[in-house]
Amino acid sequence: MTEQVTRATFDEVMVPNYAPSAVIPVRGEGSRVWDKEGKEYIDFAGGIAVTALGHSHPTLVNVVREQAGQLWHLANVMTNEPALRLAKKLTEKTFADRVFFCNSGGEANEAAFKLARRYAFDHFGPEKNEIVAFNKSFHGRTLFTVSVGGQPKYKEGFEPTPGGIGHCDYNNIEQLKALISDKTCAVVMEPIQGEGGIIPADLEFAKQVRELCDQHKALLVFDEVQSGVGRTGTLFAYEQLGVTPDVLTSAKALGNGFPVGAMLATKDVAASLAIGTHGSTYGGNPMACAIAEAVVDIIDTPEVLNGVNKRHDLFVAGLTAINEKYHVFKDIRGMGLLVGAEVTDSFKGNAKAFLTEATKEGLFVLVAGADVVRFAPSLIIPEEDIAEGFVRLERAVAKVVADNKTA
Ligand SMILES: *Cc1c(COP(=O)(O)O)cnc(C)c1O
Repeated sequence: MTEQVTRATFDEVMVPNYAPSAVIPVRGEGSRVWDKEGKEYIDFAGGIAVTALGHSHPTLVNVVREQAGQLWHLANVMTNEPALRLAKKLTEKTFADRVFFCNSGGEANEAAFKLARRYAFDHFGPEKNEIVAFNKSFHGRTLFTVSVGGQPKYKEGFEPTPGGIGHCDYNNIEQLKALISDKTCAVVMEPIQGEGGIIPADLEFAKQVRELCDQHKALLVFDEVQSGVGRTGTLFAYEQLGVTPDVLTSAKALGNGFPVGAMLATKDVAASLAIGTHGSTYGGNPMACAIAEAVVDIIDTPEVLNGVNKRHDLFVAGLTAINEKYHVFKDIRGMGLLVGAEVTDSFKGNAKAFLTEATKEGLFVLVAGADVVRFAPSLIIPEEDIAEGFVRLERAVAKVVADNKTA
């Protein structure tokens, strides 16, 4: 018999690290989701840039069914065909020659940071071990990744954290110059900061980061966990920056909701993760790789990628129209379908209010920090769902504005 559970059950049985909304969705199709009571929601959140092909995509459902009937898992004492096919595709489509599979963005970054240290150790000795990263960046929740991440609150109380890590401001080349040295083994950056507030890298900055890395023989690691797999209108965002990293991490949209992560690297760099240096029990299992292969096949087509840019314009237009009426946003920015709307000073620290009201109106949105409302919908969200979503968002904004006046 199935036990009856409600939102209240969460507080009874779950570790209290999340504060989930009262809504418990039970079914999704495309960019629409329904809860137990049958209430419908439009999904402008995409499970935080994960469900890039929406919910229950028919091709993916078939792939899951077929693979589930064939083979789930073997352990890495053997390889498998889906993993080999996926790795082949990823290397053909990117700068990379080698791939390591894991199960999440944090794990992909953990592998990348370990590889950077190990590569420097192999080629330059143990002194070259420092990692430079950026303030406000987000790279995951393991102890190493919160340490490289630029948000001190995620480290608080978990010390001692790994050392040899420095931070400076994003898009500030002078600060980076002051921090980088011949002891730096890697510079880690998101081509567009996601959790930090949807902040794209300046093209000139990205170019100079690459030059500084070359000058100091440091690896350039791009964290594309959020920006990758079509999110910005190209398979990976680095293609638009005109800068090629040495190591790149991917997860989130790669599995469309099925856990999978990947670290991509050049052949020379990858060689430092020699036999026995690193591993993962589930990493590269046939189930996850079969799904990711289908995701990449569908997304890396002109049809889907061009559609991302078209939908970007629709999102910017929708947000601009609401803003002309209600004056709640001081900046609307982003790349592709990773769009942020920074709230004006009257709503400073309270972007969450827009999320809360939107949910009540039947719309999922996200925040990125305390001041930015974030949108990361399916890359193939139907235009009528975008239109209906903005009708609901306008109602939510009107309520937030009214509440703000009476407060
Ligand atoms: C979400 C995210 C991560 C962490 O991914 P998990 O799958 O939650 O471990 C790392 N880096 C970036 C840029 C992300 O957006």
